Amino acid sequence: MSVSATPAATVSVPGALRHDWQQVELLALFELPFPELLHRAASVHRQHFDPAEVQVSTLLSVKTGGCPEDCAYCPQAQRYHTGVDAQKLMSTEAVLEKARQAKAAGASRFCMGAAWRSPKDRDIPKVAAMIREVKALGLETCATLGMLSAPQADALKSAGLDYYNHNLDTAPDYYGEIIHTRDYQDRLDTLGHVRDAGMKTCCGGIVGMGESRAQRAGLLLALANLPAHPDSVPINRLVQVEGTPLHGTAELDPFEFVRTIAIARLTMPRSMVRLSAGRESMSDELQALCFAAGANSIFHGEKLLTTGNPDVERDQALFARLGLRPMAVQVESGTVHADIVETAACERAA
Ligand code: SF4
Repeated sequence: MSVSATPAATVSVPGALRHDWQQVELLALFELPFPELLHRAASVHRQHFDPAEVQVSTLLSVKTGGCPEDCAYCPQAQRYHTGVDAQKLMSTEAVLEKARQAKAAGASRFCMGAAWRSPKDRDIPKVAAMIREVKALGLETCATLGMLSAPQADALKSAGLDYYNHNLDTAPDYYGEIIHTRDYQDRLDTLGHVRDAGMKTCCGGIVGMGESRAQRAGLLLALANLPAHPDSVPINRLVQVEGTPLHGTAELDPFEFVRTIAIARLTMPRSMVRLSAGRESMSDELQALCFAAGANSIFHGEKLLTTGNPDVERDQALFARLGLRPMAVQVESGTVHADIVETAACERAA
């Protein structure tokens, strides 16, 4: 029996890097029979990655709570009563101790997150010192600090920052339901400053916030049609925290979450697709389906900002059961921006 797929689901060359995806194509992918979608995503995954390897990152909240923004999912927004106490920026030495522990536990990348609308210029030298010291341990460095100006992005790059995380969160036409204190263009501007500074981007979103399937497709469309695909694409599943406006939102069907992962893999074939927040509540079987659908990065260990995360032992046991292994840390000469490599290859061939 032939697989019923709409023409729109079959037009693209599997695994090709594109920035001209259309909403109708992504919706057609969402409509594919589940095994067919997984097969396509797994095939593209193998074109670009060893499917037995999973990149492991650790995220440390270096400044928790007290954020003036109003992201409807976030327990760190000071306007919601979630029991998260505002803390000051950690000392460099305290961050370094956590980074050493993360490395010992197998992490190759260490991400430092601060609950800021944007860093103040006086904060940049303190964060830069953390970045330099963590990098000296042999870890890739990532930071998520809110909106950045161009000079701030340049300063972080000069300190040795490899990745900057800044999510689009959701589709443009659902964004106004979730955040009111900054707009979509602010996010795109920060991502532009990060790219212009020469850093790699980590950019994804959150699903299960009450958005429609078309809006999930809209999020992936916005990500896949960025000027360069994000090097890492975290796909978060909403962690419902009491006190936030999204507490009580209807749960997303787990198979719909796997479909979202698969379509992220198909539309951004060279990016690391990351299981991020929400993984703690996923069964081993659901995580295995996500790996089969092309997810190849996780956060583990330390608390994922202020929500829980499976402990290291559970991850190690799951990797052993599935025959997966942590991806080795990439040396600077070996880390490449997917789109830049592809573009260079095209230019040489032209
Ligand atoms: S997601 Fe970030 S910017 Fe939004 S409220 Fe939370 S800490 Fe602030």
